[in-house]
Amino acid sequence: MVKITEIRTRVWNWVGPTVPPKANFCTSATDALPSSEDSMASFRFHQWLTCEVVADNGMIGIGNAALAPPLIKETIDQYLAPLVIGADPFDYALLWERMYRKTHAWGRKGIGMTAISAIDIGIWDLMGKIVEKPVFKLLGGRTKHKIPVYYSKLYADSVDAMQLEAANAMEGNFQGFKARFGYGPKDGMAGMRENIKRVEALREVIGYDRDLMLEAYMGWNLDYTRRIIPKLEKYEPRWLEEPVIADDILGYAELNRGPIPISGGEHEFSVIGCHQLLHHRAVAVLQYDTNRVGGITAANKINAIAEAYQIPVIPHAGQVHNYHLTMSNINCPMSEYFPVFDVEIGNELFYYIFEGDPEPVDGYLDLDENTPGLGIKISDRHLNNFTIDE
Ligand SMILES: [Mg+2]
Repeated sequence: MVKITEIRTRVWNWVGPTVPPKANFCTSATDALPSSEDSMASFRFHQWLTCEVVADNGMIGIGNAALAPPLIKETIDQYLAPLVIGADPFDYALLWERMYRKTHAWGRKGIGMTAISAIDIGIWDLMGKIVEKPVFKLLGGRTKHKIPVYYSKLYADSVDAMQLEAANAMEGNFQGFKARFGYGPKDGMAGMRENIKRVEALREVIGYDRDLMLEAYMGWNLDYTRRIIPKLEKYEPRWLEEPVIADDILGYAELNRGPIPISGGEHEFSVIGCHQLLHHRAVAVLQYDTNRVGGITAANKINAIAEAYQIPVIPHAGQVHNYHLTMSNINCPMSEYFPVFDVEIGNELFYYIFEGDPEPVDGYLDLDENTPGLGIKISDRHLNNFTIDE
């Protein structure tokens, strides 16, 4: 039996060049506050956590997390690592419950569940390496030849700039394109018209044979969303993402009864949390993020529940841990793909820390049948642009 001997956590702080923030490039939950600060400041991810699950046979499983990495590191080091050291990684379901239940008074969602996710992803990578199988082969195997991906960037900008980005992205032959709204309730009717103008401009470029996804990143409220939906309807969005704050499940449910499918879930946590979204028919597309929701153990259970509800799952973010789950479940029709760019929001950091994340070709990506585990390793290519806290 292989035993876990150590959990090694490191926080990677990006100190390399970043693209400076632009005004109105994406709405966020802080837009409701009386402040003129850059509203996305608290939603940038310029740190990342790597979580290595070290086994007594010398193998190392790699997990990761991006929400509040210094706090996740403390949570793992002080509370969670002692719960899994000495255990057999193949007891993953018990280990997950042990971490979940022993932190239940203060864990459950947010920091606690993200920390569990980081270890759990590392455990799955380790199991794959031990049995010399890719993780998706442990989850059910290949349910599709390749994974269609949609291009996810198009932060709000001038109409010309967004049209140019969309035209360039069209060359990648993506299944769809996701754009961010720049204006919300505080910008009044003039802002609403600016939002609509950009949606119309994007449809001009991509036509109606590709999906157009629209993202408000919790920056609107119920009233504003009710009023803008009739104006958006004719542009046939594939979905409207996170129009209201993540806790407003009944608000999601009301909006989802309307003409535009509502998506969300990247800020929901755990099997039971996602079940609440499904039970209330709050989302038409569920978008958990594996490195927040409870890792692969939780995500795989959520996939089964969502399949029973016939609600498709399209996990938040690209990143290989999400791809393995998507490959292995018939109810996961495609993946999000963050194109590799200079560091801006911070989603990009995944590509600067890890090597091996598959790149799409002609709108699809594939996972290698012969690479054990998740298929990524920690890279040393960009070490000069990070400081690392051990
Ligand atoms: Mg989103």
